[in-house]
Amino acid sequence: MFSQFALHERLLKAVAELKFVEPTPVQVAALPLALQGRDLRVTAQTGSGKTAAFVLPILNRLIGPAKVRVTIRALILLPTRELAQQTLKEVERFSQFTFIKSGLITGGEDFKVQAAMLRKVPDILIGTPGRLLEHLNAGTLDLNEVEVLVLDEADRMLDMGFAEDVQRLCDESKHRQQTLLFSATTGGAGLREMIGKVLNNPEHLLINSVSQLNEGTRQQIITADHNVHKEQILNWLLANETYQKAIVFTNTRAMADRLYGRLVAQEYKAFVLHGDKDQKDRKLAIDRLKQGGVKILVATDVAARGLDVDGLDLVINFEMPRSGDEYVHRIGRTGRAGNEGLAISLITHGDWNLMSSIERYLKQRFERRVIKEVKGTYSGPKKVKASGKAVGVKKKKTDKKTDKKAAAKTPTKRKSANRPKSDAPALVSQDGMAPLKRRKPAAPAAE
Ligand code: AMP
Repeated sequence: MFSQFALHERLLKAVAELKFVEPTPVQVAALPLALQGRDLRVTAQTGSGKTAAFVLPILNRLIGPAKVRVTIRALILLPTRELAQQTLKEVERFSQFTFIKSGLITGGEDFKVQAAMLRKVPDILIGTPGRLLEHLNAGTLDLNEVEVLVLDEADRMLDMGFAEDVQRLCDESKHRQQTLLFSATTGGAGLREMIGKVLNNPEHLLINSVSQLNEGTRQQIITADHNVHKEQILNWLLANETYQKAIVFTNTRAMADRLYGRLVAQEYKAFVLHGDKDQKDRKLAIDRLKQGGVKILVATDVAARGLDVDGLDLVINFEMPRSGDEYVHRIGRTGRAGNEGLAISLITHGDWNLMSSIERYLKQRFERRVIKEVKGTYSGPKKVKASGKAVGVKKKKTDKKTDKKAAAKTPTKRKSANRPKSDAPALVSQDGMAPLKRRKPAAPAAE
């Protein structure tokens, strides 16, 4: 029951209105400490209810009679526009019975309109680092009186190359009394450095280890001979699986566009979402999906980050994500808040080792699924090492002929000069994830 927390009655009323009955584990762990004003470092999965875990304590601090606002009192930083928009909605829902006002600052929106909003001084400002910094530099943003700073999806912000921007925004919020840092993973050296710099004697709440993620989601692999075969399997799945809404992940914008074209040609109600799409297209894609006008979204990682769409119960990895963390983020789109979900990864011989590295990282074995109607010849390596990786994987001749592109897209072998435009930086999983190489953080193209 939420009444166990020392929350203002107007917030409890909002919680009841939203039909939240039982607090989630992250809420149980974080709310009391955050309400006491402690700094927190929280490792919790996507979809665990972590937004309420930081929004409610902020609102509880700011709640009071209506008055003229003179300073921004809370700042919430997030890696992507979509996540920022969703967080704003969440804040507005929780603050509906208060006088607290919130504002949103992200890239892709009119700078002057944002500056006008900032002149009215929201109590809570939610935004992505790049555009916030532009406002700081232009003198249209003052963070001097910020009391609470939240870094949500901090690991992701670092992966997207926002480390310096985030640090600057933290430095500008110099009079803050509380800092709350949330990440889906325990992160690497970069995150540890940031934690050391921005948090003051934090409590570390490790809500779910990576291996426990997405308990409500079944995870399967289906082997495929090449990309054309993957498309056949994808078609079969979209036509035969039972799902309300599906998301198909690719690693590159080009592949997302290609699949989208194929689906539309077959008269599927689909949408594509990637970093090349402008803000209007992205909003439209998400709204249509939420309203149910569109059932299938083809997306790259950056574009789909933080999506919280009801009824999203099928995730298909057309291409395997390049790290265990990215995999966790992708399948975090489904099985949210206790719902059931299904995550299927399509695996060619070139994807096998990456897949088995991810299995090892998650300490899970994905279910091997065979669909007889679209069964190919490849069914996994003949011999595997103790690690699960293939012994002496060599490229099959047939693959070269039938799908040069598939071979070119093999992530660990690709030369950077030939690398297709990607939406997501490659990551290294921090917990002994197999020898995937970390690339330099990509420019935050999506923002
Ligand atoms: P989040 O991890 O904050 O993105 O939350 C995931 C989803 O769970 C959102 O749609 C929330 O509105 C919902 N949610 C969060 N906390 C609860 C709760 N205690 N009871 C029911 N739903 C919740």
